[in-house]
Amino acid sequence: MADTGRTADHSADAGDAPGEVAEAGAAQTPKPTAASGPAAACTDGPVPPGSGWPDDPAVPATPVARSPAEVSELARGATTLTELAARESVCRACPRLVRWREQIAVTKRRSFQSDCYWGRPVPSWGDERPRLLIVGLAPAAHGGNRTGRIFTGDRSGDWLFASLYRCGFAAKPQSVAAGDGQRLLGARMTAAVRCAPPANRPSPQERDTCSPWLAAELAQTADCVRVIVALGGFAWQASWPVLRAAGFALPRPRPPFRHAGEVGLTVGAAGRPVLLIGCYHPSQQNTFTGRVTHEMLDAVFLRARQVAFP
Ligand code: SF4
Repeated sequence: MADTGRTADHSADAGDAPGEVAEAGAAQTPKPTAASGPAAACTDGPVPPGSGWPDDPAVPATPVARSPAEVSELARGATTLTELAARESVCRACPRLVRWREQIAVTKRRSFQSDCYWGRPVPSWGDERPRLLIVGLAPAAHGGNRTGRIFTGDRSGDWLFASLYRCGFAAKPQSVAAGDGQRLLGARMTAAVRCAPPANRPSPQERDTCSPWLAAELAQTADCVRVIVALGGFAWQASWPVLRAAGFALPRPRPPFRHAGEVGLTVGAAGRPVLLIGCYHPSQQNTFTGRVTHEMLDAVFLRARQVAFP
């Protein structure tokens, strides 16, 4: 992740007020479209909601959470996954992360200077009735924060989508940009934190502030999900209290994270079983060092397939 060292001069925190809807000024910003793609010429800064970005779930009237309390309220009040994703994608409740993601969208990485950057929270994405839920850490500054789609446009995503394709959970082996035709098949992706954090490290407070979005995602998919794969120790630990809040019954004490480690959970009045599987995150650090290999990822997702589609 590049530390740009520059400060965006359009800090959207100025003048923010609780209850306001998505940012004004959308009309002045060029609108990337499915036809032109996110690489079309654009002004710097985050993409205004509803301005034509492929698969943007939000519109200018989508309500914006600006505090932890408003995250809880708006997450609980979302009645569909689409509405939930829309609200996630315009959230401004973590001042440090809002400044960072928007600064990155202005300064950009040199190799992506001609790209528009999404610069907003990266919402959950995928099948609306998933049997597999994949929980990651947070978007990458020049991956999800650039493309607007989780695990899309970075090396981790290259590894992950290739494995999901081999195991029958993705329509294509690569995921390069919103609007590229990629689809998840019986699977959905989400993250513990929805905004790109400096040094890939959200604070505990930021993790907790974002957790109602994940809890709502889990609650809305609890009736269909059969397997949850947590990518990395952070996602494993962050998921635990959120699963409990979403109504899942968990063993005590919490088992430590380990690759391919499995924990049986139950959900609902009938105690329907759900399998939680740990998986090393396909970060460059892990893939370069061989800590995780293509075969190891495939083994986890083939196991997930076996349980999700018996
Ligand atoms: S990290 Fe989560 S809670 Fe914080 S601003 Fe981003 S979407 Fe909102």
